[in-house]
Amino acid sequence: MGRRGFLRVGAAGAVGGMVGCGRPGSVPQAVPAGPPRAWHLSELAPPPEWSRLDVWQEKISGSAFRRLLEQVLTDGTAFWSTVELQEDRALIRTTTAEVGAPRYVLRFAAEGTEPVSAVGEGGRYWRGAAAMGSSRERPLEGVRIALDAGHLGGRWAQMEARWYRVGSGAAVMEGELTLQTARVLRAVLEEQGAEVSLVREGAEPLAEEAPEALRGAARESLAAALGVAAEISEEQVRREAERLFYRTSEIRARGRRVNEVLRPDLVVCLHFNAEDWGGDAAQPVFSARNHLHVLAHGCLSAAEFALDDQRLDTLLRLVQGIPEEEIRLCDGVARQLARATGLPAFRYAGKNARRVNENPFLWARNLLANRVYQCPVVFTEPYVMNHAEVYARLQAGDYVGEREVAGRRCRSLFREYAQGVADGLAEALAAGRG
Ligand SMILES: [Zn+2]
Repeated sequence: MGRRGFLRVGAAGAVGGMVGCGRPGSVPQAVPAGPPRAWHLSELAPPPEWSRLDVWQEKISGSAFRRLLEQVLTDGTAFWSTVELQEDRALIRTTTAEVGAPRYVLRFAAEGTEPVSAVGEGGRYWRGAAAMGSSRERPLEGVRIALDAGHLGGRWAQMEARWYRVGSGAAVMEGELTLQTARVLRAVLEEQGAEVSLVREGAEPLAEEAPEALRGAARESLAAALGVAAEISEEQVRREAERLFYRTSEIRARGRRVNEVLRPDLVVCLHFNAEDWGGDAAQPVFSARNHLHVLAHGCLSAAEFALDDQRLDTLLRLVQGIPEEEIRLCDGVARQLARATGLPAFRYAGKNARRVNENPFLWARNLLANRVYQCPVVFTEPYVMNHAEVYARLQAGDYVGEREVAGRRCRSLFREYAQGVADGLAEALAAGRG
C-alpha cells in the first residue's frame, strides 16, 4: 500500500466540472478554471482525471453520498477537509498540493430518486446482481468473474518474502498457492455457468518494466520517507525498487488489465494470511493462530483521502454504487468461507480497518487492489500459512474427496477454499436479484 505521498508537478487531465474556489458562499460556476499545477499522489499513481466523474452528474443523492463516505469509505471524518457538502452538490478539492486549486463540482440527484447507473461509455462496465438476468437456481450463469491470484510465484515469491520452506518439504509460496486456488475455483465457477478469467495465468508478473527501471522512483520514495539529507545506500535503493515493483507497479498493471481488458462483473482477490514467522524463511516460527477475514474497500484515513488519486478512485467507486454491491458479495463469501473452513474471525486491532455490518468476518480496508479495480472486489484472507495444520494440508496438495491429514479427515484445502468462495458468490448474487 502506498501510504507516502508525492508532490508531482506536471500536466493535468481534462477539467470538466471544475471551478475555482471563489469567494466563500459564492455560487460556483461550471467554468473550467485551468488545471492544477501540482498533484499530491500515491506511489506510481498517474495524475487523476477528474473529468471521469462527468458522466456521474445527478446520479447519486446527497444523503447516499454522505452515508457511504462516513460509514464505509473513510474512517468517518477523513473527507471533511477535501469535500464540502452542500444541499445539492459536493465541492471536491482536485488537489491538496495547491491552496485555491480548482474544485470539482458534483451535483447530486434529487433525494428519494432511485440511483441511476451510467453503464457504457465512460460509465461502469460491471453489472450488478439485479441486471445480470441469471436465475435464482443458477445465480452464477453468465456472470463475468475475474480471479486475481494474489502475489507472484517462483523467484518473485522470494523477492516478496511471501514464502518459507521447512527442511526438505515443498516451499510454501503464497503466490503459488493463490494461483492453485484460482485454478480450482475457476473449474467450480465454470461448472455453474460463470465466465471466468484469471488476472494472471502464471508465476510471472504483468508489470512490464523490471524492478531496475524503478530505481529513480525508489530514490524519490526513500527521500520522502527518510528526508532528502539522509544517506541512502545502493542496497536500500535496490530493495525499495523491488518493493515498488511487486507492491505497486504490479498491482497497477493488474488494475489496467481488469479495467481495460477483462471488464468483469466482479473480481475475487485470493490471498492466504500469515502470522509473523520470524526473519528466517528456512526456520519459520509456527503460529497457534489460524483465522479468516474478507475485505471490502473503505476506511481511508485523512492522509489517504488527501492523496488526489486515492480520493478520485474512491469517489469513482462511490458514484458507481460499488460499495453496496461489494459489501453484499463480501458478506456472502465471508459467511460461506466461515462455514466451509470452520475458522474463527480475525480481528483488526488498529485503525486501518473497520466493520461495516454485523458480520464479524467482514472488514473494510483500503488496499491498492480493491481501490483501483473499478468494479466490486471480494478480497479473501483465509488460513494462516504458518499454522501447523495449514502447513500439513498445504503439503498434502490438492486431491479429490477426503483424506486423513494432520489427524483428521478433510477435503483438500484448495477445494474447501474454492467451495466457500463459490457458495458465497452464488448466495449473494441470488439474494441481490431482489
Ligand atoms: Zn496476500
